[in-house]
Amino acid sequence: MSSAPVSFEFFPPKTPAGQEKLLAVRDQLAATNPDFFSVTYGAGGSTQDGTLKTVLALRATGIDTAPHLSCIGASRDELRELLRDYRAQGIGRLVALRGDLPSGMGMGGELRYANELVEFIRSEFGSDFIIEVAAYPEAHPQAAGLEADLKNFIRKCQAGADSAITQYFFNADAYFHFVERVRAAGVEIPIIPGIMPITNYSKLARFSDACGAEIPRWIRKQLESYGDDSDSICRFGEEVIVRLCQQLLDGGAPGLHFYTLNQAEPSLAILHQLGK
Ligand code: FAD
Repeated sequence: MSSAPVSFEFFPPKTPAGQEKLLAVRDQLAATNPDFFSVTYGAGGSTQDGTLKTVLALRATGIDTAPHLSCIGASRDELRELLRDYRAQGIGRLVALRGDLPSGMGMGGELRYANELVEFIRSEFGSDFIIEVAAYPEAHPQAAGLEADLKNFIRKCQAGADSAITQYFFNADAYFHFVERVRAAGVEIPIIPGIMPITNYSKLARFSDACGAEIPRWIRKQLESYGDDSDSICRFGEEVIVRLCQQLLDGGAPGLHFYTLNQAEPSLAILHQLGK
């Protein structure tokens, strides 16, 4: 494990207390010498202002920090202006997404899918940015099917993505199967598995339903059996995720990207057990 790169995702804190905690978490995670940090972006205006502020706060550690950027609901002019601003701030890496608008806001915007955003960035900014895109080993929840989703993923890669980060999953075979199919299509970019530490069962179940990540029945049943006993949930969750990470790395995954939810301990505990 010691040589496999890790990266950490944050969200822009909404309160002064959250901001203060972010800085402490940042310092704990920076000590693991990650490849990069990334910061989520709320399509439709929910956290957009906070993304740049958070990127700058994280980047103060000297670690490369990528804002996520979604195109849904935005015009080309708005995207161009934001990208110019990012470039002027010395930002050289982005996570380029379609995004999801809050319910009731429809679709909107001039670019419909992430492949169009990648194309737009490449046509306007050349190779000024390293572009990461999202991948879905278990298929995106709105996808017509596995094949259609794979084709759409390939389209994003061919538009100029440098690397991909996956939605989280709990079944290593889904990742290996996805990577195999991508390679069979002749696409060689790194596909970094997204890792969601397990710390709260009800939140995880809700979120997984929404984003299409399957929680295997045996994990669900075990977590349910703990009720409100969060120590047992965390202990079991850690065991499950450490095993998953080990399988992924043993099978050739090029690194691990942690969905930190702005917490340091769960990711650090996993990394510690992996020997990092
Ligand atoms: P796309 O790649 O555009 O795919 C969306 C759907 O459209 C898929 O079903 C796909 O099969 C289909 N599709 C794609 N291209 C085409 C095409 N050309 N023609 C027809 N169909 C097509 N959301 C946020 O709001 N903010 C974030 O910061 C954020 N960060 C994320 C980070 C990661 C690593 C991941 C995995 C997800 C993240 N998300 C974020 C969630 C993401 O925005 C949603 O999953 C969204 O629904 C899809 O975005 P995408 O970029 O994967 O879309």
